Amino acid sequence: MLGNTYDNQTCSIARTLELIGERWTILIIRDAFLGVRRFDEFQRSLGVARNVLQGRLERLVENGILERVRYQERPERFEYRLTEKGLDLWPVVVSLLSWGDRHAAPEGPPVLLEHRGCGGRVNDRRICETCGALLGPRDVKARLGVAPRGPHEPVQPALASR
Ligand SMILES: [Zn+2]
Repeated sequence: MLGNTYDNQTCSIARTLELIGERWTILIIRDAFLGVRRFDEFQRSLGVARNVLQGRLERLVENGILERVRYQERPERFEYRLTEKGLDLWPVVVSLLSWGDRHAAPEGPPVLLEHRGCGGRVNDRRICETCGALLGPRDVKARLGVAPRGPHEPVQPALASR
């Protein structure tokens, strides 16, 4: 494990980082929000060593952020689903994505979030830019790749209207 821990910190940010701040852990949570559930899918998506992935998944289950659910009996197969506690990380994930789109994505956003209902862009406050609805994780789908845009259009139209 990491050498640094935040156990003796009383700040809730420090305590949250202790649970989800490790790099692979937050990427596992991101993938879970994008619909990834099975070990091999996480492994393929992240390119992480299997033993590392196993450890991170177990820790997320221990901490009640993911649950391990059997989806097949013979042979037994399990998948990992976000719990309600895990789903409560939705605003955190959208904020990280939005911040990264603005400050760490010079080519433009690699992933776009869309409202399933109307196809509108989701802004950093989880509001659909088209219909104004406040969106939860089940209302949104992710699309890969930077949207085609004209030369004068801003890189992040969903965020530029603040
Ligand atoms: Zn909408």
